[in-house]
Amino acid sequence: FKPVVALIGRPNVGKSTLFNRLTKSRDAIVADMPGLTRDRHYGNARLGRREFIVIDTGGFEPDASSGIYREMAKQTRQAVAEADVVIFVVDARAGLSAQDHEIANYLRRLAKPCLLVANKAEGMREGAQLAEFYELGLGEVIPVSAAHGQGVRSMVEAALDQL
Ligand code: GDP
Ligand code: MG
Repeated sequence: FKPVVALIGRPNVGKSTLFNRLTKSRDAIVADMPGLTRDRHYGNARLGRREFIVIDTGGFEPDASSGIYREMAKQTRQAVAEADVVIFVVDARAGLSAQDHEIANYLRRLAKPCLLVANKAEGMREGAQLAEFYELGLGEVIPVSAAHGQGVRSMVEAALDQL
C-alpha cells in the first residue's frame, strides 16, 4: 500500500514548491498511472523507508473559460477524493483569506484525514503569526518552509501517522 497525499490550497501558497521538494531526486512525475488525470501532477516521494505518492493541484490555465475558481474547486475535490490524507496549505505570511475558509469548510465536512500546514514560515516565531489559522477549526497548524525545507520532514511524518 502506497499512500496518496494531496496538496491543496489556494494559488500561490507554495504547493508546487512543496511538491518539488517532496519529489526531488525521485522519479519525478508519474506519467502513466491508470485512472489518474493529466491536469494534476503526481510524483513519487519517500521519507526513510516510507514511500508515498504526492498530488499537486493548480496546474491549470488561469484564463480557462470555465474560470479559475471553479477549476480550482474541481481539482481540489478530485485530488481530495483520490487521497488517503490531505495536506491543506496556507500562507503564513499572507495570513487567512476567504478562500482558506471555504476550503476549510469543505474539508471539515469530509471524513478524510487532513493536516493544516502554514508554509513560508521560515524565520517566524511560533505563536502569534500562526494563531489565526486555528480559526479554521482543523486542529494543529504545522509551520513549514517549502523553500528552505524546514518542517517538511515532521509534516510528512504527521501526515503519514494519520493513516
Ligand atoms: P502554488 O501556486 O501554491 O503552487 O505556489 P508556488 O509553489 O508556485 O509558490 C508561490 C510563490 O511562493 C513562489 O514565488 C515561491 O517561490 C514562493 N514560496 C514557496 N514556498 C515558499 C517558502 O517556504 N517561503 C517563501 N518565503 N516563499 C515561498
Ligand atoms: Mg502550483
